[in-house]
Amino acid sequence: MAKQTAGRDQLGAFAPKFAELNDDVLFGEVWSRTDALSLRDRSLVTVVCLLSQGLVDNSFQYHLQSAKANGITRGEIAEIITHAAFYAGWPNAWAAFHMALEVWKEDDARDEKARHQREILFPIGEPNDTYAQYFVGQSYLTMLTTAGVPIGNVTFEPGCRNNWHIHKAAKGGGQILLCTAGRGWYQEWGKQAQPLCPGDVVVILEGVKHWHGAAKDSWFTHLAVEVPGQDAANEWLEPVSGEDYENL
Ligand code: MN
Repeated sequence: MAKQTAGRDQLGAFAPKFAELNDDVLFGEVWSRTDALSLRDRSLVTVVCLLSQGLVDNSFQYHLQSAKANGITRGEIAEIITHAAFYAGWPNAWAAFHMALEVWKEDDARDEKARHQREILFPIGEPNDTYAQYFVGQSYLTMLTTAGVPIGNVTFEPGCRNNWHIHKAAKGGGQILLCTAGRGWYQEWGKQAQPLCPGDVVVILEGVKHWHGAAKDSWFTHLAVEVPGQDAANEWLEPVSGEDYENL
């Protein structure tokens, strides 16, 4: 969190001790203890505390803006205020919603991408233009290493998936997916699709026809480990049918 100076700016001359406590202790020490609780979580706690007191002044607006900057999405703030309404009072929730509407009105896909980036260790990187012809929807690829065992960080926007394909090799080969964020799907030809969550590992043997991608309503990232093989090459096949994907 950036150094806080609101206390000294507004009350430094009138109440220097209060200004010091505000800037150096509340913000300088408590808000800054991000190893104990993330900024996002601290924003959530603060917003709920303020709205439960019926405080919807400019300090509440400041904390809503911070909450958005700290990664709370439009969908999440709507859920937070709805939940809080039952405990903090219906009129307080109404008042909070009026201000949240203003703060989140320009929310868009860019914010969702930024939020997803905060969940993963490696950069989402650039649009995956090289392989775009083999994908439905928008994907992103960052090669983490191309030496020895190639490992790519692959991110899919909601609804994005690759075509059916086969990792071919004369000997060895195949692919391992290490799922790191969001929700997705993996399907082998002739089998049921499997849902994927962070922590899931998918071992794809050489020669197996399959596809992988995001769920309809979620960003999804996996590391793709290309298992070294002799004469390794990918064979790209037909897209997953829209009907099959929609019915998942
Ligand atoms: Mn694959």
